[in-house]
Order: sequence, then C-alpha cells, then structure tokens
Amino acid sequence: PGILWIVATPIGNLGDLSTRGAAILGEVDLIAAEDTRHTRRLLDHLGLATRTLSLHEHNEDARAQGLIARLRDGQSIALVSDAGTPLISDPGYRLVSHVRAAGLCVQTVPGASAVIAALSISGLPTDRFVFEGFLPTKPGARRKRLQALADEPRTLVCYESSHRIAACAADLGAVLGERAVTLARELTKRHEQSVCLKACDLAAWLADDANRTRGEFVLVIAGAPARDMPDSAVSLEAVLNELVP
Ligand code: SAM
Repeated sequence: PGILWIVATPIGNLGDLSTRGAAILGEVDLIAAEDTRHTRRLLDHLGLATRTLSLHEHNEDARAQGLIARLRDGQSIALVSDAGTPLISDPGYRLVSHVRAAGLCVQTVPGASAVIAALSISGLPTDRFVFEGFLPTKPGARRKRLQALADEPRTLVCYESSHRIAACAADLGAVLGERAVTLARELTKRHEQSVCLKACDLAAWLADDANRTRGEFVLVIAGAPARDMPDSAVSLEAVLNELVP
C-alpha cells in the first residue's frame, strides 16, 4: 500500500519548505489540499504538476474512504494545508485517524508551524506549554475561556486573526492584567514583528499604529505565577509531619 505523507508548507516565506517536502510533493500520485488554488501557486513556484484534490473540514469524512482505496491500491498521497503544518488548527485529523484505523501508514514531513515559531522567539518559558488554537470568537465566550485559563501555570499559545486581535487584546488586558504576553505578527514575512508587553498594555500598543493590527498573529502568554501554599495547607502539612513517626 501507499503512504499518506503529512507535509508542512511555509507560513509565509517560501524558502521554509524543506528539500524533502518539495521532493515528496513532486513524487506523490496525489496531493490532498485544503485549498487547491492556494496549493497550486506553491506547486507552480516549485515547477511541479502533481494532481491535487480538495480536502477541507466539510468534505474530510466523505473523502477519506476514496483516499484509503487509493492508498490500498499502492498510490501515495500528500496532505497539505494552506500554511504550516496540516492538522494544527487545520484540516486533516479525521483523515489521519481514518487512515490509521484502516491499518495504513502515515508519515511526517515536518516543517513550519506558527505555534512553535512564535514560542521559540517569545522569551517566555518553553519547557511546558499549552496550545489553545483559536480562542472563541464571541467576546463573552472568549473572556470566559481566558478566565478559565487564568490559573494555568504553563505558557499559553493562541492563534488570532486580524479581525479579532484588538478585541482579544482588550480581553487579555481585562482578565490577565500585568501578565507578560508576546505578540508575534507576520512571522517569516516581510513585516514580521514581535513584542513582549504586559497584557494590560497590549490594546493600546495595537491602537498606536494601524499596521500593527494587520496580518496573522500568535499570542504567547506567560503562565500563572506559582502561588504560595495557603496557610491552611502549610499547617496541615505540619500536622501530618507530626503524625508520621
Ligand atoms: N497550520 C498552521 C500552522 O501550522 O501554524 C496554522 C493554520 S491556522 C488556520 C492560521 C493561523 O495561524 C493564523 O490565524 C495565525 O494565528 C497563525 N499563523 C499562521 N501563519 C502565521 C504567521 N506567518 N505569523 C503569525 N501567525 C501565523
């Protein structure tokens, strides 16, 4: 049987496609793409004429059986999304789980992903982190989600679009106040920018220059500071120490 290759593509700078990624895109029988027109531009840039087929969140389950039949038939398939690593806030999860359930082989061609790119330049702790993907789009639900995450000690990473970055920054300020946030914008592109601020200063920083709300964003948010043990817990510990011989 053929292999399903999960191929990362650039998040902006075309130079970030790996040599192996380009080779696989040229060798496979078919490329399943989130948006075939978008992927066609990348293939044209590489001088490749590989066939493409659309695979997005609305047809993923329906497409899976046909793709599995092709794999069983010995064809190889690459899955790509519009940018970065497929399945990371992008389609592909259902396809991969169907293909695995069918006992077929899935292999990775790793590369860019905005979550890792932003985390690695954030200046915030990277040893443990939580990826939240996109926060809820409605203000009330977004605030609630941020409140639920306020005590999370690990660094938090979120994706945000230009439509909502200002409203999201206002909520971050209201919920997290003095917490450090690194905003990374347009990573690997001409106008790449990243800045580390207090959550409560983010909205004003964005409002200062209309260009700052343009493009694609990753927010990297410091985890909650470790809290001192409450007095009652300390005394309980002391009592337990007394009791244990
Ligand atoms: N699969 C992609 C990945 O691996 O990063 C993510 C796809 S998701 C639909 C798109 C979101 O990723 C954007 O709204 C933005 O939050 C983030 N993103 C993608 N490219 C970016 C870039 N060059 N700079 C900053 N954020 C980016």
